[in-house]
Amino acid sequence: MTIAVKFGGTSLADAAQFRKVAAIIKADANRRAVVVSAPGKRHKQDPKVTDILLSIHEMVARDMDPGPSLLLLRGRYLEIERELGVDAGIAGRLDAFEKAVRAGAERDFIASRGEHFSALVMAAYLGGTFVEAEGAVFLTSNGLIDERTWKELPPRLPAKGFYVLPGFYGTGPLGKVKTFSRGGSDISGAILARAAGASLYENWTDVAGLLMTDPRVVPDAAPMERVTYRELRELAYSGANVFHAEAILPCKQVGIPIRIANTNDPAAPGTLIVPENQAADRPIAGVAGRSGFCLLQIEKTLMNKERGFGRRVLGILETKGISYELSPSGIDSMCVVMEQKSFEPVEDVVLQEIRNACDPDSIDVERNLALIATVGHGMSRRVGVSSRLFTALANAGVNVRIIDQGASELSIIVGVDAADLGKGLRAIYDAFVRS
Ligand code: ASP
Repeated sequence: MTIAVKFGGTSLADAAQFRKVAAIIKADANRRAVVVSAPGKRHKQDPKVTDILLSIHEMVARDMDPGPSLLLLRGRYLEIERELGVDAGIAGRLDAFEKAVRAGAERDFIASRGEHFSALVMAAYLGGTFVEAEGAVFLTSNGLIDERTWKELPPRLPAKGFYVLPGFYGTGPLGKVKTFSRGGSDISGAILARAAGASLYENWTDVAGLLMTDPRVVPDAAPMERVTYRELRELAYSGANVFHAEAILPCKQVGIPIRIANTNDPAAPGTLIVPENQAADRPIAGVAGRSGFCLLQIEKTLMNKERGFGRRVLGILETKGISYELSPSGIDSMCVVMEQKSFEPVEDVVLQEIRNACDPDSIDVERNLALIATVGHGMSRRVGVSSRLFTALANAGVNVRIIDQGASELSIIVGVDAADLGKGLRAIYDAFVRS
């Protein structure tokens, strides 16, 4: 049995954190497959290594001297190496890196070195094998996982001992180093879990787990003990992104559960992300919300008899590159909710094209909408969940503009005025969690 473990930047910020990480790995003989991020912040004002690297690239691109940032980088790694008492050959590798930078190395290559050096140091400290991500993990041109990974990575994993794969990067379609989006080491962790045939993917970070709601709104929000892959997707409206959404897929495909755990409190249970059939018996998993949406409302008498109306509206949005969130509709009205900042630049042309193609009676845009998603598999077996939800909103004085519940009964999404987002989230959380 193998457990794949991934450690985030704050878990590797300095030598003391590296020691904690090694102790966690060694505490369970199944923890052999390791993914590491680049060192993160040691304190609030400290820069993350990835940000130092990105600024190095930026400076070279603008013909500025990256010297001071290169020194900062060197200081971070050499201190970790020295304090751990290992020799991973970082000094020489940094010399070569500096040369590459000054010779105009590409952005993704530069950004990826944080994880690269971290993994070399961790492999040396654990007395394990460094597994290079380049040529083993493959990315598509739009930064997603390329299927070649499943063929190339597994044969490179040693049968015995610890092994460490750097997170965040792999090889792109042009054969060069390419990075995932920010926070992408979570994806690398999921990739290694699947490639190693792991029974569990542990994602070690600096929080108690995934919280049931946004802690900026409910400061004492409780961690979720158990949440399913699909519930977590529905909670993607959440502002607090502790875990990269794209990291769920590789584990979901083969049913590997994911545990979010805290490096600074390893005994705490954290959050377990599980397949659908293992949902816990509770009405809601969590409630998430985000503002920044707008609503396009189109009215036309006898719309329900007209074929192709919806297709034409959505087709126009598609050609303008707009994806939509929801489309709750009535007999003579159609409403489309979209991200306001992507819609506004094309608003005038979209409205004109809809007028030409659909000849509506009226068309309006309402701005500054927030969406609140109340999520839980438990809803589908319970009477009264929505009544509890809407009573809570009514008692808090929150007006509901739109309502959407899919047939799966996995979530109820309400649209409210952006100014009511905090009040609404708090009211729903209190109604389900505190009562
Ligand atoms: N180091 C990268 C970042 O800061 C990737 C990661 O930590 O997951 O985004």
